[in-house]
Amino acid sequence: MSSTYQTQDGVAVIMLDNPPVNGLGHALRTHIMEGLAAAEADGGVKAVVLIGAGRGFSGGADIREFNTPKMGAEPSLRTVLDRIEGLAKPVVAAVHGIAMGGGLELALACHYRVAVKGAEIALPEVKIGILPGAGGTQRLPRVIGLEQALDMIVSGNARRSEALAPLGLFDEMIAGDLGAGAVAFAQRVAAARPLPRVRDRVIAAEGAAAFLAKARNDIARRYRGYPAPIKCLACVEAALTMPFDDGLAFERKGFQELVETTESKALRHAFFAERQAAKIPDVGPETLMRPIKSAAVVGCGTMGGGIAMTFANAGIPVTVLETQKEALDRGLALVRRNYEATAKRGRMSASDVETRMGHITPTLEFAGIAKADIVIEAVFEEMDVKKDVFRKLDATMKEGAILATNTSTLDVDEIASVTARPGDVIGTHFFSPANVMRLLEVVRGKETSKEVVATTMMLARTIGKIGVLSGVCDGFIGNRMLEPYVRQSLLMVLEGALPEEVDRALEDWGMAMGPFRMYDLAGNDVGYRIRQRRYLERPRLKPFYEISDRICEAGRYGQKTGKGWYRYEPGDRTAHADPEVARIVGEVRAARGLTPRAIPASEIVERCIFALVNEAAALIEEGIALRASDVDVVYLSGYGFPRYRGGPMFYADTVGLANVVARMSEFSRNPLADPEFWRPAPLLARLAGEGKRFNG
Ligand code: NAD
Repeated sequence: MSSTYQTQDGVAVIMLDNPPVNGLGHALRTHIMEGLAAAEADGGVKAVVLIGAGRGFSGGADIREFNTPKMGAEPSLRTVLDRIEGLAKPVVAAVHGIAMGGGLELALACHYRVAVKGAEIALPEVKIGILPGAGGTQRLPRVIGLEQALDMIVSGNARRSEALAPLGLFDEMIAGDLGAGAVAFAQRVAAARPLPRVRDRVIAAEGAAAFLAKARNDIARRYRGYPAPIKCLACVEAALTMPFDDGLAFERKGFQELVETTESKALRHAFFAERQAAKIPDVGPETLMRPIKSAAVVGCGTMGGGIAMTFANAGIPVTVLETQKEALDRGLALVRRNYEATAKRGRMSASDVETRMGHITPTLEFAGIAKADIVIEAVFEEMDVKKDVFRKLDATMKEGAILATNTSTLDVDEIASVTARPGDVIGTHFFSPANVMRLLEVVRGKETSKEVVATTMMLARTIGKIGVLSGVCDGFIGNRMLEPYVRQSLLMVLEGALPEEVDRALEDWGMAMGPFRMYDLAGNDVGYRIRQRRYLERPRLKPFYEISDRICEAGRYGQKTGKGWYRYEPGDRTAHADPEVARIVGEVRAARGLTPRAIPASEIVERCIFALVNEAAALIEEGIALRASDVDVVYLSGYGFPRYRGGPMFYADTVGLANVVARMSEFSRNPLADPEFWRPAPLLARLAGEGKRFNG
């Protein structure tokens, strides 16, 4: 018998052993069935314990089997659960580390559950657009009650075992060795009959109808666009109102319907795209990584402060450099205020604030950062200033340190060229606020070494970011794509839509924030200054930005000046449409002899999103982005693109690339359009012609 099945003092111990998370793949399911059969046949066995090897009990479905026939092959998870529930001997789940998705459903089908403290328990299926399809929606409410179960199933968030034990999820919390404790527990309950089965429990119905009605409203509002949460609710309701087996059938049907929805396919795409982004074809596992135990940040402004917080949050000591004491004090005071605001909202303790601040060391001297393993420059966006800083870094930083720049628009290769170690120079493009936004564009220069690329991608994970590799170009992946999107948004204002109409169309479609609200948040003056430089190289851009330039020249910089594309009340970020903006827009239209036309919301969305898609196709072909799914990750994690649409490239795939190209051709016939703008990038044209997709 394998080492993953043993008997101990009348108890059979079936070990779940499928690294890294004991995913319930076909081989493991078969092993459990064989173990149950052996335990049943062995007269000396009075009870069974299921326990996980390694890091936890089980992380649920084995994602390596996704989209393969093995996924549903018999014995299916449901078959395994039925077998456990029907076994004539008690089965005890012994939980440590994690019990998620199918892993928790497995534990729920057991007659008893015991756990150690600190295990993470969740039904996270909703996050990939589906629902727990192996009885989770029927059993969990029977164990921990309707309200708690609904919250776990709809949010997908993990809860700690010790928090769930008082709700009844665990029959006993084990203090010492889990295996020994579980065997002792199994021996104690071995003779008790009848065997307790979750399916036989009754859910307390008092107040349930009112609770469910309110929950339905909340979910509809909170998860607009996502079909899974509301289906989860229907299943939980079925657990209350239907006999158990009917509830299971209802859950099964809901699961199958969800799997087929575009939204759930998009969410699964997003999940796999994020994992894929970490893989860089020519940087294999043999590439050495440099240890990053300390960091430094040059410049403690908006970005530098946020970047320092990101390191401090990850427990990595970070030294922050400014050359002027006042700037340093101001920057660090802002960091402290940010932490204190988080503590005030109850999301961090007062001692956490001090611990994090304790990881941050201020300095006014380059000598003070010389020993850091990585330095991130976040000074003003001016080439000469950056070069000056990099010369100093080259002169002072220890050998092997990574020299990173947070530039958003400047040429990383040119910055690297002033150092004697361009192989150590890389771009790390954080997004604002840097301590919150998950995206990190990792910009690989001509000479950046593989070691530095691999280390920086790994570092992204360590500090809780999603790293996406980009080549060097103006704007990298995200902001370069944004430029044509911005131009369409502005052109539509010239043609007849008001800023608030453009925003509403895109927000109704699912964008977290429409472009004009975004400009006001970021500050219109930033773009204004960058544009003046761009006009010198590309004078054709100027007419597109006439309204923006007028808005800016009227001192309307956005939220910070209380007015921009909208107006704002003091101390309030709510955007109010402003007749003054409509007046400026009207003047520019009149001066050009334009008669405004009503632009349908669908056209607003298509023109903005297809502009993103076309630019991205060019980026991929140029090798700036490695793959279409990386572009999707950039937009999902950095630009508020709706996750249930999978990212711009996945969305284009769902529309059909031939349809995208056909619409672009229609847009090019618009009298104000620049036909060049709508010429499909060669990659898009080719894929559309061949009936193919961006994402496989
Ligand atoms: P900021 O003006 O808020 O901060 C810059 C800081 O650098 C200031 O505190 C300044 O005192 C300091 N500084 C200037 N020269 C210095 C020098 N020689 N040595 C040390 N410190 C010096 O600017 P920011 O918005 O934080 O932007 C910093 C960088 O990040 C820029 O390259 C910018 O393009 C990039 N970036 C900004 C954003 C954003 O949304 N603000 C987003 C991504 C990237």
